[in-house]
Amino acid sequence: MKSEKHTIHDFDLNIIYEFFSNTERQGPGNKEETLKALGFIEGLDKKSKIADIGCGTGGQTLVLGESTPCEIIGVDTWSGFIDQFNQNARDRNFQGRVRGIVGNMENLPFGEEELDLIWSEGAIYNIGFERGLNEWRKFLKKGGYIAVTENTWFSEERPAEIQDFWEKAYPEIDTIPNKVAQMQKAGYLPVATYILPETIWTDYYTWQASRRESFLKKYKGNEAVEEFIASMQYEAELYYKYKAYYGYMFYIGKKI
Ligand code: SAH
Repeated sequence: MKSEKHTIHDFDLNIIYEFFSNTERQGPGNKEETLKALGFIEGLDKKSKIADIGCGTGGQTLVLGESTPCEIIGVDTWSGFIDQFNQNARDRNFQGRVRGIVGNMENLPFGEEELDLIWSEGAIYNIGFERGLNEWRKFLKKGGYIAVTENTWFSEERPAEIQDFWEKAYPEIDTIPNKVAQMQKAGYLPVATYILPETIWTDYYTWQASRRESFLKKYKGNEAVEEFIASMQYEAELYYKYKAYYGYMFYIGKKI
């Protein structure tokens, strides 16, 4: 057993992935919200190509597959998630039209102007909002869309406890006007910006709480697991306390 202190980055990645496996979503989001965002995207047809970046097990990718006639490729670094996604896609008879590949959002395997839509729910923070918007733009056709969710401050000022937590966890967290300005500067027309309902977080944290319990039983005495669980629990507690000050937003832009 390890006795020294660890940060989340030191935890065995396999354990983190196991925690988030065999569930529909790995982040805050649901079918209704995916469909609402999709409603802002115009001009998709059978010839259109969509990439879902950081797709996880593909909960939202399958929704996009059911609701559009497009070719859809989900990309995630974790092969276990991609295997689960491809199994689900096969079960639904997408016949290869919707599929997952292992890949890195920092080095995507797409050609210039190949895509009509880039989707990314609960994942762009891994590369950073601004960097993702800038680097992924080249893969979009002119007039193509990007739709991403991102944690955002709702006000200019907020209590120190929550400020300090997110400044450490995700220093790029920023206010709505600053995020929209970043989107515009990166070469997109901001088409829609709106707050996701609180329930996408509370449902997510409720799911986490039940899995935390079974996980702690399975890994009883494993300090790294206990610390990982405690840090997730702390994040959830902060959300309930400070949800007036931040939350997830959908940002939808059109390449100009
Ligand atoms: N979009 C899914 C999953 C969100 S969780 C959902 O909303 O349910 C974030 C996902 O990003 C995880 O599946 C993780 O494996 C993936 N990820 C993290 N870093 C990545 C990277 N550099 N490239 C591609 N995927 C990455």
